[in-house]
Amino acid sequence: MIFFAPVFMESGFIRYCRIDFGGLFLYTKESFETKKVMILRIHIEGIQDERFLRPLENIANLFFEECELTFAEEGESDLAITLAYERDDAAVRASGAITGADITAEYTKSLEPQSTEKEAFKQVKNTVSYVFLSVLQKHTGIIQKWGILTGVRPTKLLHKKLQSGMSKEAAHAELKRDYLIHDEKIELMQNIIDRQLKAVPDLYDLGREVSIYIGIPFCPTKCAYCTFPAYAIKGQAGRVGSFLWGLHYEMQKIGEWLKEHGVKITTVYFGGGTPTSITAEEMDLLYEEMYRSFPDVKNIREVTVEAGRPDTITEEKLAVLKKWNIDRISINPQSYTNETLKAIGRHHTVEETIEKYRLSRKHGMSNINMDLIIGLPGEGVKEFRHSLQETEKLMPESLTVHTLSFKRASEMTRNKHKYKVADREEIVAMMDDAVSWTKQHGYHPYYLYRQKNILGNLENIGYSLPGQESIYNIMIMEEKQTIIGIGCGAASKFVDPNTGKITHFANPKDPKSYNDRFEHYTEEKLRYLSELFGQDAASSSHKA
Ligand code: SF4
Repeated sequence: MIFFAPVFMESGFIRYCRIDFGGLFLYTKESFETKKVMILRIHIEGIQDERFLRPLENIANLFFEECELTFAEEGESDLAITLAYERDDAAVRASGAITGADITAEYTKSLEPQSTEKEAFKQVKNTVSYVFLSVLQKHTGIIQKWGILTGVRPTKLLHKKLQSGMSKEAAHAELKRDYLIHDEKIELMQNIIDRQLKAVPDLYDLGREVSIYIGIPFCPTKCAYCTFPAYAIKGQAGRVGSFLWGLHYEMQKIGEWLKEHGVKITTVYFGGGTPTSITAEEMDLLYEEMYRSFPDVKNIREVTVEAGRPDTITEEKLAVLKKWNIDRISINPQSYTNETLKAIGRHHTVEETIEKYRLSRKHGMSNINMDLIIGLPGEGVKEFRHSLQETEKLMPESLTVHTLSFKRASEMTRNKHKYKVADREEIVAMMDDAVSWTKQHGYHPYYLYRQKNILGNLENIGYSLPGQESIYNIMIMEEKQTIIGIGCGAASKFVDPNTGKITHFANPKDPKSYNDRFEHYTEEKLRYLSELFGQDAASSSHKA
């Protein structure tokens, strides 16, 4: 007989205290780090269909830092859970129980009479997820405020319900009943949607326009938590030159297609990497290309340039931005503690962030976003409050508060043991500080997204002063229109203007592959565009 008792560990996730015939085995931090006994094995009985594996794994990961789910019976497991469901034309009924413990859950969900097989199966998955989450909540004592919603974009779900004509009350009730989402999160989602529709009243009607993302994959140095396509720029002049050649080519071809088919651009976003890592002359030529190639640039609602790393900002580059009427930039402090910046490999100081912020203001940047990260190594409530106090002195138009996520490919994840991060309670306390500070200072949340392996299962929230929301951020989060990704690591999302179906297409992440094949990637995107709305766009522009 084996019993398990949850133990809260430093990271805030649960490790297991395993009691069996041989005595007590505590999965200690040390043993976890030396990777001897750290993966919790969960055996699911009663369900064999592999399509359940991913959604159930996503839920298990909300509770356990490292776990492995299996439907097969071989080998020993640390936790066994029985799941079952029955389905008829009218409803799906699911039940769950933890083996060896008096913990059970049940849920019944009615099915829409006209549901397709795909829709009905989605409901089955949600119902099984519901009972799985319920038994794990009872077992661990951890309550998940996002319920069974593990996706990146929770607000999309509420948008969909409201767009279909459902009242707010009915939509909220469904989120609570079917997804187990708590009131606090539903209120947050609704506030965000209200803000978005104020900033972009025609959000639901922008499917026949596009936004453009331009990825420039260079940075002064690589930060420890980064998984973006970002390459240290020093000594890369040749490669940068070839990359920019490809980028100009893509801009010309895509712009030509948009002009030809009468498709308007809503927003343009230069990201990366750090787009201000290239020289002022290179930036100048790039914006000149944008004006020459893209349709009706003067009427694009918003053009943003990430100037994330303060060490890339110079007077010369700011003058170039101003010359091309670009006044929305992002300068990212991440933290206002120099030791932290050093530990995460940012290679700039707090003083430099403040100095470059002031310089940007002086040069006419009137809409500045700043990013902060909750849970950076060595940081707790004290350091985060300090960051908020410093932000108060600058009052940027928008502030994006991220929660640190351990992404698989980052240096920080590979060497997790080297970085001491705050526990779950402290992360929540920092998030609470961010919520109250932004409220007190007139900022409103206007977009949010979640990530896998995010500390404390919290979220990243974009706040802004009224009227200063980034339209591009709303477009990328809510997926109401096509975003064409140009450049290195740029992901395109083709959203069918009629059905909303999304097709993803990614440019290569490394400059060498991009430089070798940029023509091919451009062709592919043009093909997608023609398939999606080539005919429609051509005929509507003709009619006009
Ligand atoms: S500045 Fe941003 S893109 Fe560049 S390495 Fe750091 S986190 Fe990555």
